[in-house]
Amino acid sequence: MNLKNRLSFFILLICSVIPWPTTQIHAQTSRAERPLSKEKVKRTIRLLKPLDKPLAETKHGDWLDSHNEKGQRFTKWATTRPNKLTDRKTTLYIQPIGTFSETETKLTKLTAEYLEAYFNCPVKTLEAIDASTIPATARRVHPEWGTKQVKTTYILEKILAPNLPEDAFATIAFTNLDLWPGNDWNYVFGYAAYYDRVGVWSLFRLGQPDRNKDSYKKCLRRMIKLATHETGHMFSMKHCINAQCNMQGSNHLQESDTQPMHLCSECHAKTVLATSVMPVDRMQRLLKLCEKHGLEDEVMYYKAAIEKLKK
Ligand SMILES: [Zn+2]
Ligand SMILES: [Zn+2]
Repeated sequence: MNLKNRLSFFILLICSVIPWPTTQIHAQTSRAERPLSKEKVKRTIRLLKPLDKPLAETKHGDWLDSHNEKGQRFTKWATTRPNKLTDRKTTLYIQPIGTFSETETKLTKLTAEYLEAYFNCPVKTLEAIDASTIPATARRVHPEWGTKQVKTTYILEKILAPNLPEDAFATIAFTNLDLWPGNDWNYVFGYAAYYDRVGVWSLFRLGQPDRNKDSYKKCLRRMIKLATHETGHMFSMKHCINAQCNMQGSNHLQESDTQPMHLCSECHAKTVLATSVMPVDRMQRLLKLCEKHGLEDEVMYYKAAIEKLKK
């Protein structure tokens, strides 16, 4: 979910700052004994296709207004030697950087649960790294806005890549610092590598979860969408132009708020093959989580998807 230009007014609310808790290990997930064949995975695309909604018209300032993307069908992705879970690379790690409020910690725990169901793998949260260890060469104050920012490439290349745990499928950093990837970019929500199994997401621009119930829910939706989007990139998934999908590129919050939390039929198929999950099992786990957190739109989608897949 790379995003360029424009600053939406944002006040970072940190009610109480508490250190990140020690390692959390989320419940182990079951893996299908045998991955589905490509042909069977393709069948799920045919079954789910009727639920795909066409892309909204591109408006000035939207992602596709300034990025000429070609999209990536399942069959194309499958020929790119994409990253997948393996017997050795089993686990997604979250690396917190900084200190977090109680609400931020709660949101991240829920996001970790969702990541686990989305990608059918255990998620472990590492001990937080002190943000003051990031050197001045990887920081800046934005020349126009005065916002303090840290460089995504430093986090990926210097913090995460050299320290990938042996059983890591990937490590994704999580921070409340503002991110920028260098050059002429103003900021990004998150950033991830297609093949190097490292990424980062920030909640700096995702809203004010402590303001009221609606703001909290909006922030939770954004957190889940961003973390799963960036993790999708680490499974070598490119941006989607097939249909409304969580793997669409997004240039600003208003745009990403209109995009769904679920994947389109093509991108769903990629996760099935990459994570050896049974398609109905994946949908049922996600349905339960969405019901638990009152994410109504997604509940409707997953119920419909389960019906289609049972045919
Ligand atoms: Zn992206
Ligand atoms: Zn898609």
